[in-house]
Amino acid sequence: MPLNSPWRTDFPGIQALDAEGQTYLDSAATAQKPQAMLDSLLGYYASGAANVHRAQHLPGERATRAFEASRGKVAQWLNAASSEEIIFTRGTTESLNLLAYGLEPLFAAGDEIVVSALEHHANLLPWQQLALRRGLKLVIMPLDSCGQIDLAQAATLISPRTRLLAVSQLSNVLGRWQPVRELIALAQAQGALSVVDGAQGVLHGRHDVQALGCDFYACSSHKLYGPDGVGLLYGRGTALAQLRHWQFGGEMVLEADYQHARFRPAPLGFEAGTPAISSVIALGASLDYLAGLDQAAVIGHEAALHARLLAGLSARDGIQLIGEPQVALASFTVAEVHSADLAHLLTEQGIAVRAGHHCAMPLLKSLGLPGAIRVSLGLYNDGADLTRFFVALDKALELLR
Ligand SMILES: *Cc1c(COP(=O)(O)O)cnc(C)c1O
Repeated sequence: MPLNSPWRTDFPGIQALDAEGQTYLDSAATAQKPQAMLDSLLGYYASGAANVHRAQHLPGERATRAFEASRGKVAQWLNAASSEEIIFTRGTTESLNLLAYGLEPLFAAGDEIVVSALEHHANLLPWQQLALRRGLKLVIMPLDSCGQIDLAQAATLISPRTRLLAVSQLSNVLGRWQPVRELIALAQAQGALSVVDGAQGVLHGRHDVQALGCDFYACSSHKLYGPDGVGLLYGRGTALAQLRHWQFGGEMVLEADYQHARFRPAPLGFEAGTPAISSVIALGASLDYLAGLDQAAVIGHEAALHARLLAGLSARDGIQLIGEPQVALASFTVAEVHSADLAHLLTEQGIAVRAGHHCAMPLLKSLGLPGAIRVSLGLYNDGADLTRFFVALDKALELLR
């Protein structure tokens, strides 16, 4: 079976890489973009740039309308109750840093923040640093052997001392769905806030923040087939009201004199200065493109590719998968082969995969691994990409052994 992607030709970047002999298997790091997004990005500039939320003139009004339409599309994509619950940031990392700063006054010494052992640095370090500043305890939920947060242990760690739970929906190393709904329910029962790192989860068919029941949800445009430089932060209305303002200037101000100022509520109160106007507008085009696809077909295609990836890896001697991935990616090591050497040989053969600690150094350390290779898939990948990967892998392993 060829496993062709009917969407591959919508992505000029993939076509260009094809022409260069490059096989792109690193979509968990950043995704290629559909032509519709490129058209939108160029179209904004080509039709006359203008700042948003300021000017009365026609170009300004047009830019503001398109910018706010994107906010509406994001709200719809995430199934937020209102577009007022969507703040544009620079990325998942900035969204999570905003939260760790903005929620700081709610914490008192001795309070606990609960995270898991698999967190990306972006959903670990802001909380770790907040804990250090405030004398809080950072509690780490352990994983089971599949790479899933152990719910039974989590239930004993989430306690009346827990003030906040921060957890990834889908690990960028382990490719496994986490029991986020159950964890959020445990946190809520203790009156704790919940934050979900949706940077990977949002890509694979589960993006309903109301169904999750979280207070905050963070993700990035560039992994969602949109432009880089834009992050999304969803906050439930009542949760957003607890955030203190963090960056000051521009139109986030309601009223200012020399000694004092008052600020807008979310979302505009958390978007100081000129935002990434073109990128926010173009993200709207990416979401329109995604919304226009047959979602079941996309999920089915990704699942078939993923199954072929796992089958190919497990058919080869000495390959150790990390955990039991369920979707989109697989990380692995090879017995007696350094992953940096393997990555080098794959790179030389035009295979673009990721090697290293995947911004989850504590996780790799806890598994006793200096690094791992990660293959990750986008909706434009096809069976031929995997064939080229396996041919290159076999050649590399032959050389290294
Ligand atoms: C990529 C990623 C992040 C960070 O996203 P940025 O766009 O680099 O800010 C956070 N968490 C997970 C799970 C990721 O995959």
